[in-house]
Amino acid sequence: MFEYTSINQYQLALTQGKTTCIEAVRHYLSEIENSKQLNAFVHVFADEAIQKAAALDEKRKAGDTIGKLHGVVIAIKDVICYKDHPLTAASGILKKFTSLYSATAIENLLQEEAIIIGVCNCDEFAMGSTNENSVYGKVLNAIDETRVPGGSSGGSAVAVQAGLCMVSLGSDTGGSVRQPADFCGIVGLKPTYGRISRYGLIAYASSFDQIGVFAGNVDDASKVLEIIAGADEYDSTVSQKPVETYSAALKETKKFRFAYFKETLEHPSLDNEIANGINKLIEQIRNDGHEVTALSFEYLDYIVPAYYILTTAEASSNLSRYDGVRYGYRSSKPSIDLTEFYKHNRSEGFGKEVKRRIMLGTFVLSTGYYDAYFAKAQKVRRKLVEKTELVFSEFDLILMPTSPSVAFKIGEKTDDPIAMYLADIYTVFANLTGIPGISLPLFKHSNGMPFGIQIMAKQFNELSLLQASQQLMEFKK
Ligand code: GLN
Repeated sequence: MFEYTSINQYQLALTQGKTTCIEAVRHYLSEIENSKQLNAFVHVFADEAIQKAAALDEKRKAGDTIGKLHGVVIAIKDVICYKDHPLTAASGILKKFTSLYSATAIENLLQEEAIIIGVCNCDEFAMGSTNENSVYGKVLNAIDETRVPGGSSGGSAVAVQAGLCMVSLGSDTGGSVRQPADFCGIVGLKPTYGRISRYGLIAYASSFDQIGVFAGNVDDASKVLEIIAGADEYDSTVSQKPVETYSAALKETKKFRFAYFKETLEHPSLDNEIANGINKLIEQIRNDGHEVTALSFEYLDYIVPAYYILTTAEASSNLSRYDGVRYGYRSSKPSIDLTEFYKHNRSEGFGKEVKRRIMLGTFVLSTGYYDAYFAKAQKVRRKLVEKTELVFSEFDLILMPTSPSVAFKIGEKTDDPIAMYLADIYTVFANLTGIPGISLPLFKHSNGMPFGIQIMAKQFNELSLLQASQQLMEFKK
């Protein structure tokens, strides 16, 4: 029986001849088959994955040098281009669309001999916090199937949670990697804005979007990050900074200066057990020789509104390209002119939440409202960036809950979009300021559900973020 613990252990077993890539792929294909009710995958590339595994086994047995992700079985979110494979953003408007090229992150994975086993379900165009807004239907949390896995990268999170692949990719515009990781009890990493190329990532809100990694442990997340990060001539917003070999430096046990914002732990929306768990953790971190300081944060109630104004504005512009002319869904209703043709295609092709956001975004950008909403939200963003710079001039890391509650019950928040948006209170900060964040699965609630702690670092300081994460994982209950 195939058992997986980490990329390191797996690759050791491969080189010692104790397992093969084929065995790994077969194992995951059968697990995916047995977990169909979770609805985590929307496409599985069974034959292709087996062929690729066979080729890798041959290569390794022939004594050739092997790639850094040799044989690693990876699933990807349905918003990341993989050439000649289906890509739909879980939307009716992209039904039957096939990628014409691969995202740079995917090219990098393939170069290092990873095996992409399939495409994971998500919220339509990555808009949502529960993975209930998908043309393929909702995804279930494998720990409690009456609960959501979180979103928008719910399928990718469940794929790792339920052992349907080794690691997976998601995207995080406002928490879509960290929050589902929190709800599913796994590691979810959102790197600095501009650390990983966005070439080939379907745009939701371009100044926020970033590809992220789900894994069972910090070492696996680090290994994937160091392969997919780095300069790319196809994305002008990606950084030229060299990428460190994070995984090689994880064992260093430095002492860090942590800060946390008092208001985040006193917020009325925060579950008591989560607050208590984090307060105890703070003591443990102190006892371990790190510094932990409480700071005050005056902007907590402004971050969710600022996030939803700016991202819907960007989304309304980004999603204007889906008009049914060159590709995507086209209505069969007759149209008298081009405007009506667009209306039919877009009204029928997009789901409810996406339409709500396009309308909201169009509104906040419209004449007469632009200054009151969009310009003001930009000012809030600037204030947050300044605050962040100030904090990181004295501290290495910020501690925060990942989510105010454990995974919601299915349907619990679907009729109340505002309540759903407000639950993003702790994750949108990192996207508004472009800093890296990670959710670590340290706790278990008395209701049986997992929850995590979030840590954030200065832009491009993924190294400290991951080193501290490795140490914090020792406190896992
Ligand atoms: N829940 C947030 C939203 O709906 C996050 C989405 C994301 O990170 N893609 O916008």
